[in-house]
Amino acid sequence: MNYFYGPVPSRRLGFSLGVDITPKKACVFNCVYCQLGKTTKLTTTRFHYVKFPTFKKELKNILKRKPKIDYITIAGSGEPTLHKGLDTIIALIKAETRNKYPVCVITNSALLDREEVRRELLQADLIIPSLDAATKRTFYKIDRPHRDVRFENIIKGLIALRQEFKGKIWLEIMVLSGYNDTRQEAEAFKKIIKKINPDKVQLNLPVRPTGAKIALPEYKKLLMLKKIIGKKAEIVSGFYKDTQKKFSQSIKQDIIKYLKVRPATLVDLTKATGQNKFYLKKQLKTLIAKKIVKEKNYHHNKYFVSISSKN
Ligand code: SF4
Repeated sequence: MNYFYGPVPSRRLGFSLGVDITPKKACVFNCVYCQLGKTTKLTTTRFHYVKFPTFKKELKNILKRKPKIDYITIAGSGEPTLHKGLDTIIALIKAETRNKYPVCVITNSALLDREEVRRELLQADLIIPSLDAATKRTFYKIDRPHRDVRFENIIKGLIALRQEFKGKIWLEIMVLSGYNDTRQEAEAFKKIIKKINPDKVQLNLPVRPTGAKIALPEYKKLLMLKKIIGKKAEIVSGFYKDTQKKFSQSIKQDIIKYLKVRPATLVDLTKATGQNKFYLKKQLKTLIAKKIVKEKNYHHNKYFVSISSKN
């Protein structure tokens, strides 16, 4: 198991060292926009997935190479709160890095109604929980949750998280054309967000290839949502401009690890690895020939996708 990938250039977090602690597509949801394809393990049962000695060894090995890191982000290829004992993971990262980097957890919010899950998140510096719908109907259409998940409980969990967690909360809404970009949904979001009281609301877009073709919302709809939700709302756009310094031990392995958790353009890979595009193209060509990676055109961009992450 590779627990780490990147650091990847993130639109919101700068260079983010990704931490992947659950098996691929173990998730509480099966979102229509998921860039990892269909959920293969739809579950609400938490489990202790991480083997600490390997986790620690991998982290030490990455830190030795001194890459640029702005955040260490627990996210990956499934829902991270399905790992039982997230607090120990966060504590281990903080101890190994001597608290040098802020730790972020990205979650789909489904298990936040559980007191033990919220308690395990308390030592993080930033939590990015998502809320893709403000009405039950839209929630079922977009997130297609496990049958035990209730929309009302997600809202309750988010409100409780805000009351208990002292770090920053950036609530993410993935805006999908024809699903949650209506005025009615925006008004409902406004009411719910007032109760949750996050530090920021980020309107994100499904720009990377997904299992189904999802249309991007019109810009005027995004502006409408932003205006109705209010001054905490911002549209996540543009890519991180800085480039990573070269730190890789095996560029092919780094590309494979990266693409297993998110599709990437050549520009993304250039920024993530610090390697020039001609060299990267050569590596990608080999990976494509070996059928490890394939090309996919999506919203006028060419992406490289891990073949094992296809639907
Ligand atoms: S987008 Fe996130 S929450 Fe939704 S199915 Fe994929 S991994 Fe799960």
